[in-house]
Amino acid sequence: MTVTDPAGQVARPYLHGTETDAVAEVLASGQWTHGPQTEAFEAELAAFLGVADVVAVATGTAALHLALLAAGASGGEVIVPSLTFAASVQAILAAGARPRFCEADPHTLSVTADTVAEAITDDTVAIMPVLYGGRAVDLSPIASDLAARDITIIEDAAHAFGSWQGPHRVGATGRLTCFSFDPIKNLTCGDGGAVVPAQAAHLRELRGLGITATSAERATATGYEVTGLGLRAHLGAINAAIGRAQLAGFEHTAGQRQRLWRTYRHALAGIDGLALVDVDVDHTVPFNCVVRIEHGRDRVHAALQLQGIAAGVHYPPNHAQPAFRAWQRPLPVTERLGGQILTLPLHPAMSEDDVHRVAGAVRAVLSSTTAVTA
Ligand SMILES: *Cc1c(COP(=O)(O)O)cnc(C)c1O
Repeated sequence: MTVTDPAGQVARPYLHGTETDAVAEVLASGQWTHGPQTEAFEAELAAFLGVADVVAVATGTAALHLALLAAGASGGEVIVPSLTFAASVQAILAAGARPRFCEADPHTLSVTADTVAEAITDDTVAIMPVLYGGRAVDLSPIASDLAARDITIIEDAAHAFGSWQGPHRVGATGRLTCFSFDPIKNLTCGDGGAVVPAQAAHLRELRGLGITATSAERATATGYEVTGLGLRAHLGAINAAIGRAQLAGFEHTAGQRQRLWRTYRHALAGIDGLALVDVDVDHTVPFNCVVRIEHGRDRVHAALQLQGIAAGVHYPPNHAQPAFRAWQRPLPVTERLGGQILTLPLHPAMSEDDVHRVAGAVRAVLSSTTAVTA
């Protein structure tokens, strides 16, 4: 079954039309794994971001995992907001570290210097700010303290490809930055990810089974050397080709996301009991449109569903998940947010009419809720 109503999905990949030929070309070439396509994609990403080098990997989760390994986080504690995709936390565990959950700002759903500082302990080795909704996170008030304690910042910028922090793109700020290119992210490869590294060589070793020779070098040699720990986390040529096509059309999808988010802001204004989570749209390529509904979030969700409008919760707090119970601690702000947040459909194939229909439906439910409870 194909879903044709754009509002019927919270998120959906956008096709520029060039992906099919790009993939067909790779299939015909017979070189499907890491190779020239992946390397060309890395160079194009680096040029786009304005950085010296980018390491493409299989997924955003792998990007976080490898970045944590490269930063030497194993055995230590990594501060992460509870309000994130489970991938952030699983990457910490996979790297042999422990998550230390922290609060988020209710207006942005991102961490702040204060929510991070509150969570620091003697065991903290790294901090993983999640750039929620694509919005950059400013930890400069505690930057010197973090440096003095030798705490590494590893940005989970899975939502934030294309966004800006001051004069730099997210990723070009000098911090270790991880992107996801899964099907619903601002840029997609089908599945994919990237790390903007401090030390690209180590990350390339980690991503490719600890083998440093390129596939081109291996094709002409009789042996290869395994020089250290490595995972099977490379980005194949088929996925890289999709990413290159998507990157070439990025200005269009980024503009659409900003336009649709601004339309939501206008259309949702003045609804009692509803607040829009602010993404700082002038500097951000919005990944999502999230609202906080003080009372009756589940009622709104159900009413939208009845009208064929998709909505979701991003994310159920991780510190309450069974798998992460060992690291649970009271996080009252996040617990309250977990019952209030609702993600509305936002993806580049939507029209402004779609946005108005969604916003109108939300307004209608909340007006009737107010009438009933008043
Ligand atoms: C998507 C996402 C990830 C993981 O990326 P994948 O490419 O799906 O592995 C990590 N963190 C956050 C916040 C995400 O949204």
